[in-house]
Amino acid sequence: MVEKVSQHTHCHICGKAIPFLETLCSEECKERYQKMVKKRKMFVYAMYILVFFILALFLVQSVF
Ligand SMILES: [Zn+2]
Repeated sequence: MVEKVSQHTHCHICGKAIPFLETLCSEECKERYQKMVKKRKMFVYAMYILVFFILALFLVQSVF
């Protein structure tokens, strides 16, 4: 029996070994991944808003 150590990668969520070219092992992990991406996007938006407010604050201070 010739069994090659096939190329594989690991699930981005739970770390389980999965076939190469896959990124996630199950529907559950896909859902978790989607939620994570959404949260990350929200965080990025929040950062933009924060930076915008800080800049606006500086602008207002420099005017008066
Ligand atoms: Zn997984």
